[in-house]
Amino acid sequence: MMVVMLPDATPEQISNVHNRLAIPGIKVVDMPGTSQLAIGALGDVMAVRELAIEALPGVDRVVAISRPFKMSSLEGSNGEYSQVQVGNHVVSRNTVTLIAGPCTVESRESTLEAAHHVKAAGAHMLRGGAFKPRTSPFSFQGFGEQALNILAEARDQTGLPIVTELTDLSYTSMVSDVADMIQIGARNMQNYPLLEAAASTGKAVLLKRGLSSTLEEMLMAADYILKENPRVILCERGIRSFETATRFTLDLSAVIWLQMHSHLPVIVDPSHAPGDRRFVPALCQAAVAVGADGLIVETTPEPEKAQCDGPQQLHSADFAELLAPTRAVAAALGKAM
Ligand code: PEP
Ligand code: MN
Repeated sequence: MMVVMLPDATPEQISNVHNRLAIPGIKVVDMPGTSQLAIGALGDVMAVRELAIEALPGVDRVVAISRPFKMSSLEGSNGEYSQVQVGNHVVSRNTVTLIAGPCTVESRESTLEAAHHVKAAGAHMLRGGAFKPRTSPFSFQGFGEQALNILAEARDQTGLPIVTELTDLSYTSMVSDVADMIQIGARNMQNYPLLEAAASTGKAVLLKRGLSSTLEEMLMAADYILKENPRVILCERGIRSFETATRFTLDLSAVIWLQMHSHLPVIVDPSHAPGDRRFVPALCQAAVAVGADGLIVETTPEPEKAQCDGPQQLHSADFAELLAPTRAVAAALGKAM
């Protein structure tokens, strides 16, 4: 941390700050500028934050130098990127992991058909919601346990690992019995007890970015999982901005920033940001072009009949063909997909 003193700070105010910073584990260094003195407080950032230095007379501002996230930081892993194994598949920086399937398990037939289509298209995992976090309580909430059984059958038939969302603490064991990777949805990114419950299952956890969350907040949320479970994958899925033409704004810079600051794999959801399937193939290409480690895409045989997120879901019969240009982008970057 760096404490910047006001230009007219008195020697007494400066020594007051020095006294406050005199705690074990903190090294204090004066850094005189042309008009203001900065006092560096090196060491335990959280301990310095708790000293409430900004409230002392003569202090202009306190500036953080190191980042507040710990276990998710790239520094903390000495620059080594994590690999996360899910089923037989390893999610890593060298490959583009493809997760695909319906937004929601709506019937046995449509889910199994989607599963076979995405398997044939080369997907590595099957997604499908059993419990849905709907904005309105009057919208379809998912088929719950019945849907989990259908997902388990889809895994038996295709061998694809299952990704499904945990929305409530009380469903933890039911969901973890079937999921190979537990999804934490955007609306629950900062639901800390839920993050801890997902972590405690030992299953891999897919953490989606909150609708209005900063990337630092996302990495601190990841720390809640990492303190118990190392298998975490981050997902950019679009954030709220002033723009209303598309449902959310897909923040592709987030992929680059997260890979600069975190060792965790970063994947992109190109379906929920636009809310419109016409955007999805191009956003898949763009995500892979900026270096995403994977994609999670919604696709179902008959999106027109879907009870949830129909307009954004790709027709699963066309899925392989729609993804062909994305494969070409991955190949150009030397990544297996
Ligand atoms: C989903 O993946 O179906 C979903 C609800 O996503 P999000 O949490 O990103 O809105
Ligand atoms: Mn959806």
